[in-house]
Order: sequence, then C-alpha cells, then structure tokens
Amino acid sequence: MPDSLPWDQISNPKVLHSSVAAPVIVVGAGLAGCWIARTLADKGVNVLVLEAGTHVARAGSSNPVGLFKPYVTRSNSYPMQFYLEAYRCLQQRLQQWNLHAASNYTPCGVLQLVEHPYPQSTHYRIVAASETNQPLSKDLKGQALLFDQAGWLNPAALCRALLQHKHIEVRCEQRITDISAATDNQWKLSIEATSELTAKHVVLGTGANHIGLDVTKALNTIPARGQLSRFSVAQGASKLSNVVNGKSYVIPDGDSVVVGATFERGVNDASLVELDNALNLQGLNDTVPGYEVNPRAISSYSGVRATTQDRLPMVGPVPDSDRCNDVYADIRHGRQLDQYPPLPVHKGLYAIAGLGSRGIVTAPFVASLLSDFMLGGQAINEWTPLINPARFIIRQLKRSGG
Ligand SMILES: Cc1cc2nc3c(=O)[nH]c(=O)nc-3n(C[C@H](O)[C@H](O)[C@H](O)COP(=O)(O)OP(=O)(O)OC[C@H]3O[C@@H](n4cnc5c(N)ncnc54)[C@H](O)[C@@H]3O)c2cc1C
Repeated sequence: MPDSLPWDQISNPKVLHSSVAAPVIVVGAGLAGCWIARTLADKGVNVLVLEAGTHVARAGSSNPVGLFKPYVTRSNSYPMQFYLEAYRCLQQRLQQWNLHAASNYTPCGVLQLVEHPYPQSTHYRIVAASETNQPLSKDLKGQALLFDQAGWLNPAALCRALLQHKHIEVRCEQRITDISAATDNQWKLSIEATSELTAKHVVLGTGANHIGLDVTKALNTIPARGQLSRFSVAQGASKLSNVVNGKSYVIPDGDSVVVGATFERGVNDASLVELDNALNLQGLNDTVPGYEVNPRAISSYSGVRATTQDRLPMVGPVPDSDRCNDVYADIRHGRQLDQYPPLPVHKGLYAIAGLGSRGIVTAPFVASLLSDFMLGGQAINEWTPLINPARFIIRQLKRSGG
C-alpha cells in the first residue's frame, strides 16, 4: 500500500448507529445498491431501497450471465491485491448468506488464455492451452491459467435474492431527481418532483445513470455499452467444460454458450444492435477456434457499464468538489502534504460508483468496506488510494496546477 495522503485518510464525520430505526436510503437497485443494502441490513440497519425502474436490477446488472474470477496481473500489485480480496469476499458472502442457488452460481472453472507466460501462483494452475479438456483444445495456443473455483452467476437473480431481508424495504418507480441538504442534518431527496423523502444517511448506487447534481459532480463516470449473445451449440458438438476467457468470454450454459461482451466506450444506450451479435460470433471463433454453434444468436442482452479512467471503482463518502478544489488548490506547487486538511466530504452522503466491467466481483467487497465506514470503522483506509472518489479531483489539480 502506498503512503497515505491527507485526502486518503478519511474518517466519518457522521457515524451511523445501527440501533437507529430511521432507514438509510439506498438509491438504485443494481449490484451496488443491493450489496450495500444487504450488508447494512445484516448488521441490523434498516434500509429503504429506491429504484427508478419498474423492477430490481433493470440497468447494468440486468445481465442474465456474468463471469466471476480473480483478476490477476503477471507481477503482484496493489490493485491485484484489491481484486483478490474482492474475489474472496464474493465467495465468502455467497456461501455465508446461502445465495448459491438463488444466483445460479456455477463454479465450473475459468480457463484464461494468456499471450505471455505467467509465474506460478496459488491463485491459478498453469496449463498448456492445448492440453486442456476443452473440445478442440488442440487448436488453442500458448499457456492458460485455470481458476478452478471461478465461474459464472446470474447478476439480476443475485440482486433480487440480496434484497430478501427483514431490514430491507424496496420501492420501485422512484426516480430521484434532486438531492439537497435539509435541516436537522438530513438529506432531502426529490422523487420525480412529486414527493420527497429525507434521511440522515444516503448511499448512491445509480450506475451509469449518474444523477447530474451539484452534490454528486465528483462522481462522473464514463459510460461503456456492452452486449452479450447466446448461441445454441451445434448438434453433435461437445460441451465446453469451463468458461474460456480470451478475446471474448465464452460461458457454457446447457445447450448454449453465452459470448461477450462488446465494449463501446462513451456510449450510454442499451439498445440491442444486430452487428454486435456478429462481433460476438467472431469473438467466439477467435477464443475457441472451430467451435460449432448455430450462427444466429438465440437471444442477446445489452447494458451500460459505468467505467472510470483507471478502471477502479469510486467508493466512500461523496467528496465536496468545491471545497476540495479550494483547500487543495495549490497542490501542484504548494505546501508539504501533511499541511493539507483531510478530505472535505458531504456528510452522510456516500457512493458506490464506477463498478465498470467487474462489478460482480467488486460490489460485495466495496459494500463491506463502505458499511464498515458508515458504522465508524476504518477498514476502507487500506484501499482509499485506489477507490477514493476524490482521486480524480486531486489528479486534475495536480495536472492543472490549481
Ligand atoms: C454487457 C455487460 C457484461 C458484463 N459482464 C460482467 C462480467 O462478466 N463480470 C463482472 O464482474 N461484471 C460484468 N459486468 C459489469 C457489471 O454488470 C456492472 O459492474 C454492475 O452491474 C454495475 O452495477 P451498479 O449497481 O453499479 O449499476 P446498475 O446495475 O446500472 O444499477 C444502477 C441502478 O440505479 C437505478 N437508478 C439510476 N438512477 C436512478 C435515480 N435517479 N433514482 C433511482 N434509481 C436510479 C437504475 O435504474 C439501476 O437499476 C457487465 C456489464 C455489462 C453491461
């Protein structure tokens, strides 16, 4: 872990007490919102989840199939440690809360094709791609990493299961259009300009539909549309035994495979595109050459990811951008770092944003860090240099000179 800088030492100025009956409001019922709701509820906190759509998991998390695996790099790194912790947390929570069946958890193993050799590790087995037990494996080239315990699950089903808890109430068709500070240390949330709710603690998990408000302007993410395509396996072709992850991922699911996902940075539109099914078919051919499927996709799914410049999420108290720009203005040429004040934040307003392409793996861990922080813990500080939403404000100030 790098040395901690003033803006990365965050302490909560408004600690939540689990005995308080008034609920924490969570905005958004995707993986971010559902994991934080469940993690708080598990600690005895009452939670009210407000979702704009007609049902839970209607946006980025509505995909029927998603991959979970450890994200590893060739040499050990701080981000790799973060992803390994996240992966451990996902596995532990699914087991602890008995979510395997409800999420269609399928730990069939993930075979990751790699171009350059990887070192030995306890996180995977190194195998020659041509010697794996996949059909047509003789055509696979190079080395592969086999993650035995990894696999796929159904994110939308997982979201629904997470919200089944006596401390959680869910209200759909509740689009939040404004958030402002109210009296008595509360946040006021406007719902489609027709009604209002107040809460002392509010968590934003709004994915790519970032609410463009003054208080949330530090949470800007970059949309990236993606599409998955399902192809039926040709008659007589053998089934894949693991997920194969190469140029695309190919997920075996009964008599079909799900292939994805396309990645269109800057596009915030979840309409289905026929061309993307062709791209996914090409991705299948590149990843498992010669694998025979019926070339017309039998179904497809598209969604929009909320990504960040460094591909890491933004998790924690929402920074007060105006005050950050003020107190850290001279950072490029300024004082010694220890003379700067701690991070100015909007007290009681928190976010899990920018889960990008890895939200299935990272959401439970960041929810665990955030709930601990809300209840007065400090565990998040081990990871703030990576996930602090304020890092982009600081980087901008360093570039511009304030
Ligand atoms: C095609 C595709 C494939 C993917 N594959 C994988 C994979 O294999 N592995 C993996 O780990 N990850 C994968 N991901 C990424 C993962 O699905 C996302 O990171 C995750 O779903 C994001 O969850 P979220 O809760 O942040 O956002 P979302 O799921 O988008 O949830 C945000 C919710 O907030 C609601 N909302 C927004 N604004 C408001 C408002 N103003 N008021 C009330 N509610 C609001 C929305 O309606 C939505 O339900 C994939 C994503 C896509 C699109």
